[in-house]
Amino acid sequence: MLSGWREVMARRPWRISAKLLIVSSVVTVIGFSAICVNVMLDMRRGEEALARQTLENLATTIEADISRNIEIYDLSLKAVTSNMLLPEIGTVSKPIRQLILFDHATTARHFGAIQVFDTDGKLIIDASTLDPLPENRGDEDYFRVHRDDPGAGLFISRPMLFRGAYSIVLSRRISDTDGGFMGVVAGSIRFSYFHELFERLSLDPEDTITVLKRDRTIMMRRPFDLDVIGKNLSERRDWKADNLKAGGSFAGQGPIDETPRLYVRSGGTNPLFVVTGKPLNIVFALWRTEALRIGAVVLVLALGSTIVLAREIGRRAEAERKLEEMATTDALTGLRNRRKFDHVIDQEWRRAMRQKTPVALLMIDADHFKAYNDTFGHQAGDQVLVGIAICISDSVRRAGDCAARYGGEEFAVLLQNTSATDAFKVAEMIRGKVQGWSDDQAASTVSCGVASLVPTAGVDWSVLVTAADKALYAAKAGGRNQSVVASIPKLSLVA
Ligand code: GH3
Ligand code: MG
Ligand code: MG
Repeated sequence: MLSGWREVMARRPWRISAKLLIVSSVVTVIGFSAICVNVMLDMRRGEEALARQTLENLATTIEADISRNIEIYDLSLKAVTSNMLLPEIGTVSKPIRQLILFDHATTARHFGAIQVFDTDGKLIIDASTLDPLPENRGDEDYFRVHRDDPGAGLFISRPMLFRGAYSIVLSRRISDTDGGFMGVVAGSIRFSYFHELFERLSLDPEDTITVLKRDRTIMMRRPFDLDVIGKNLSERRDWKADNLKAGGSFAGQGPIDETPRLYVRSGGTNPLFVVTGKPLNIVFALWRTEALRIGAVVLVLALGSTIVLAREIGRRAEAERKLEEMATTDALTGLRNRRKFDHVIDQEWRRAMRQKTPVALLMIDADHFKAYNDTFGHQAGDQVLVGIAICISDSVRRAGDCAARYGGEEFAVLLQNTSATDAFKVAEMIRGKVQGWSDDQAASTVSCGVASLVPTAGVDWSVLVTAADKALYAAKAGGRNQSVVASIPKLSLVA
């Protein structure tokens, strides 16, 4: 079994067809590219995940820092609200009262002095001085909120100029034991706190940090821009809260500037939350150079293999064409050989049968050629055969016609869709040309047998050949150097 297979392999070297070659290399290139694209997309996702994690950590850390400071400050405010209820507070001296009300936390660097306002908004106590100048804050949000709502709790104001510095005001209501309004205690966190906090972080110039209140008012932003601070994102129609949910991320153009970034929002539940952003072109900078490099390599490889393949296919096609030509051409005369002729007549016969058109055949034979050879030699005879072939191909020029060397000094011409009359004219033309040439050179003449037939079902093309042969025989018998047409009606009866 195996040895039989080896024999087959040895006899017929294994060859891949051009089509299979093209298909397999196209599939290879596509598959290879798909894998590369997949790997690159994976890399991209990896880069994005890494950046998201970094931004998330940053946002969480900042939110925690801000919340802790607010909490510390709020503890001081709470202490004031409860200490204000002490009955002695109205009777002790001012310095003692300051000591009771304000602990040391309020003196921290970025915290403004705590102040107490009465029910009308008039400043009555100030942590920074024993004798504050008269001042009324009855119109400020941080006052009115507490006057109108006993349950407001800690109120965080929108960013504002407070005592000459941009700040956020934190305030609490002072209620008596029955819940009655007794005034407001307020303090502030200066923007310098945020600036210092952000400066401690190592960030790219285009990175952003945005601190927002729960109602989506922008409290602070890096890079710092006064036009943006205090704006409320919920007033923006083009930016929905769903775009960036708590703990989520968003890649694209944000609500504030046009640079596409990867934005990540902290996931805590503190009064303020943080959104950190990094430009997408920085997030993917490394990936992009890598992707370009891999892409270029893949492209070069694909292009290279395509060129090699195309060249190889071209070479094969050319070699096959040459082989085919060699296999179908008569070496001496350059006409089609017998093998090709049999193939052509077979095809032509069937085509003519479908189309019900006549097929004509000329059988041409050199006269007394044996004698010619004997007189002038075989090589001279060969030259005459070449000459006859030239006369034939000069006369048969239609694309579908086929002129062949049928064997020895005999030629055959197949004429598509040609009547006996027209075929006879072609035969006479050939015979005339050969004779004209023969007169000059003392060469040979030819005799032609002509037959034309519309193929019918069940009739083989050999009938046409026999008919033309018979006509040729008649031409020879009739004295040679002439053309004779086969009598077709008789033939059809025979068939
Ligand atoms: P006829 O007029 O009856 O055809 O006479 P003929 O001598 O041509 O016929 P015959 O069939 O008796 O002889 C054919 C000769 O053609 C025999 C051979 O010497 C010559 N011949 C056949 N093939 C070739 C060839 O390839 N080259 C040359 N030089 N001569 C050939
Ligand atoms: Mg002959
Ligand atoms: Mg012959």
